[in-house]
Amino acid sequence: MFDLLSSKKLINLLPKIQNFMEEEIFPIEKEVMKMPFKEVEKILRSKKEKVQDLGLWNPYLSQEFGGPGFTLTEVARIGEVLGQSPLGHFTFNCQAPDAGNIELLMHFGSDDMKQKYLKPLLDGEIRSCFSMTEPHFAGSNPIYMGLTAVKEGDEYVINGHKWFTSSADGAAFAIVMAITNPEAESPYARASMIIVPTDTQGFNLIRNVPVMGHAGEGWHSHSEIIYDNVRVPTSNLIGMEGSGFLLAQERLGPGRIHHCMRWIGIAERSFDLMCKRAATRDLSPGKPLGTKQSIQNFIAESRAEIDAARLMVMNAAYAMQTKGNKGARQEISTIKFFTAEVMHRVVNRAIQTHGALGITDDTPLAFWYREERGASIYDGTNETHKAALAKRILRKYDLKIRNN
Ligand SMILES: Cc1cc2nc3c(=O)[nH]c(=O)nc-3n(C[C@H](O)[C@H](O)[C@H](O)COP(=O)(O)OP(=O)(O)OC[C@H]3O[C@@H](n4cnc5c(N)ncnc54)[C@H](O)[C@@H]3O)c2cc1C
Repeated sequence: MFDLLSSKKLINLLPKIQNFMEEEIFPIEKEVMKMPFKEVEKILRSKKEKVQDLGLWNPYLSQEFGGPGFTLTEVARIGEVLGQSPLGHFTFNCQAPDAGNIELLMHFGSDDMKQKYLKPLLDGEIRSCFSMTEPHFAGSNPIYMGLTAVKEGDEYVINGHKWFTSSADGAAFAIVMAITNPEAESPYARASMIIVPTDTQGFNLIRNVPVMGHAGEGWHSHSEIIYDNVRVPTSNLIGMEGSGFLLAQERLGPGRIHHCMRWIGIAERSFDLMCKRAATRDLSPGKPLGTKQSIQNFIAESRAEIDAARLMVMNAAYAMQTKGNKGARQEISTIKFFTAEVMHRVVNRAIQTHGALGITDDTPLAFWYREERGASIYDGTNETHKAALAKRILRKYDLKIRNN
């Protein structure tokens, strides 16, 4: 297990990325996070150039596509370092949802898609989004959806309603999950993934859905979209008709490792801020907060939980690397809910330790408290992952539970 945390290739690289985060990213966070996203993009442009000069651009990418070709466990370690700031992944061009879409297009995109969509994504020239969840259907049951794509000649005509399509605002295209084969016997063979350029007629972005008072903007937003007789060529289909769920599993597998390690990065930075505050905030002269047992409990419990979560995620990444996505299902379900809950607890304790300062935007803690609450909801709600894990375990006790 401990070998998973060390990799010869990362010995020099991780400190280099950490330095970049501390020198270039942390100092600008407070100002930048208050700005409209268009301004943020301008400021980050020069930071992105520095990342490219350092040879750190697209760190998740395989060698085949010009990247460093790190293993999933190595990528996980990099993801933790980048996760320490809300700007980390974006500056290195490995942010969600683009990282998942890049992975999909690399493995399943046609040559034309690779040229038209993958290349500009890899160059950081465009952004993309993934449009699956619908307001009127429970997202926890992925096969239950209303949006359809009907073939007419050499076009698909798409009609339906999606929401929480993250980063659609300003994106060049959406990968849309649509029912194309309603008659298929297996409900898992009824949907397909189709590329819809966002400037197509009928792609109506109605609003960025406010999240706890913040509608967000650009990459940092979640949109509601009506697809109203959207027409795209049938060549915009990714993979085969009816393969949508299969592709979704491929997309979500490594994506869950990426998310979990980003959350570990958030927890680790929150922990650091909590300890600094505990050591320097005097309750009375010479009596800092850290002398109090309840704050010591926050620190000790957080340390133990973060260390446990990191080892679990690395173990899951290793399982995926050696057994494939399917073979590592149990590990993936376990880390998804466990790591989200650890992150929530650590951020919450760090806020409490900061008192009123903790809920201001003078530290990244309030941003994470608000924006990362969704970690227990997206990419499978905690409850569905817990149910999947328990069912798998109970099978060994001869209790077979059927899905709804
Ligand atoms: C920040 C954020 C970003 C997102 N980004 C995207 C995106 O880019 N693209 C996209 O398509 N979607 C996105 N989503 C949507 C996300 O995938 C869905 O919200 C998720 O699948 C849950 O679906 P739902 O919201 O419809 O909740 P529902 O399915 O209505 O579930 C509601 C609640 O019921 C409980 N529940 C569900 N199943 C069970 C069960 N089996 N047993 C017990 N309790 C259960 C859970 O507590 C769940 O939270 C995002 C969501 C968030 C919060």
